[in-house]
Amino acid sequence: MNDIEKINQFTRREFTEDELYIFPVKLCDNEIDRDGERFSDEALEDLKTLYVGKTGIFDHDPSAGNQEARVFDTEIVSENETTSDGRPYKYLRAKAYMVRTAANQPLIDEIDAGIKKEVSVGCSARKKICSVCGANVFEQGCSHVKGKEYGGKLCHHILDDINDAYEWSFVAVPAQINAGVTKKYIPKEEKSMDFTPINTQEELDAAVKTAVDAAVAETEKKFSGWLSPESAAALTKERDDLSAENNVCKAKVMKMQIAAENGIPLELAENMAGASEDDIRKEAEKFAKYFTSRKVQPTPKSTGDTPFGNSNDNAKLEMLRELRNN
Ligand SMILES: [Zn+2]
Repeated sequence: MNDIEKINQFTRREFTEDELYIFPVKLCDNEIDRDGERFSDEALEDLKTLYVGKTGIFDHDPSAGNQEARVFDTEIVSENETTSDGRPYKYLRAKAYMVRTAANQPLIDEIDAGIKKEVSVGCSARKKICSVCGANVFEQGCSHVKGKEYGGKLCHHILDDINDAYEWSFVAVPAQINAGVTKKYIPKEEKSMDFTPINTQEELDAAVKTAVDAAVAETEKKFSGWLSPESAAALTKERDDLSAENNVCKAKVMKMQIAAENGIPLELAENMAGASEDDIRKEAEKFAKYFTSRKVQPTPKSTGDTPFGNSNDNAKLEMLRELRNN
């Protein structure tokens, strides 16, 4: 089927080629747009079907009431280019026609001159998917923010599952801002966790679970790698070291307590053998003999300090000597 045959499927009467003005128009593509959104490749395929027969309007000039164009053919065009995030670039190209009239001629001249370039499309999508976590933001909220990076991935929303396409229009936007295409979709209420109304206990439980799951997933992601076998081994060793140190401290304290209870000088506490409380108590009894049996202290020299120290020191020295000889 040639262009004229295709066009005549949409007209009330048959037109000849001379009566028609045929021009290409780039309707939309799969690049991330100024709103941080893009169409999925499947969405472009849906739009390719849905846009056939759709009317284009020239909304910059409301007085030009009957200046209309119509799409009669569409195709997905892939050129050897990539999108800003590295996917193969594709766009939906349409062929449109206008009936040549005197009133239309200035418009036709503008299109021919490339002045009329920017097109806005209207469509309705069932899904708007977060590029980071895959959540459909129409149905469930997610914590990602468009335009922010998560682990090197730029968050944007992917329009998918297109269920209808509306008219398209040339818009009075300077083309150099974004040569080619702008996109417009029929806004649907976006749900987010903050604004979902909760009326029942089940909804509350579900919302809490979603929030907790998201937080857990986020945390697991954040700390993944932290518990590598090497890190785990290091942590275990650190814990064991601390625990051994702790046991040494506990034994030291126990010996000091038992020494105090038995009238043994604290500096000797560590000299007591034994690890268990029973062993230490037995040892303490041996030590204690030397300090309880020597209540009578030798008379100190009048000057106080002597090369032999005070009487308590002498008792200690004697005790250690005797214990060693045992
Ligand atoms: Zn997300």
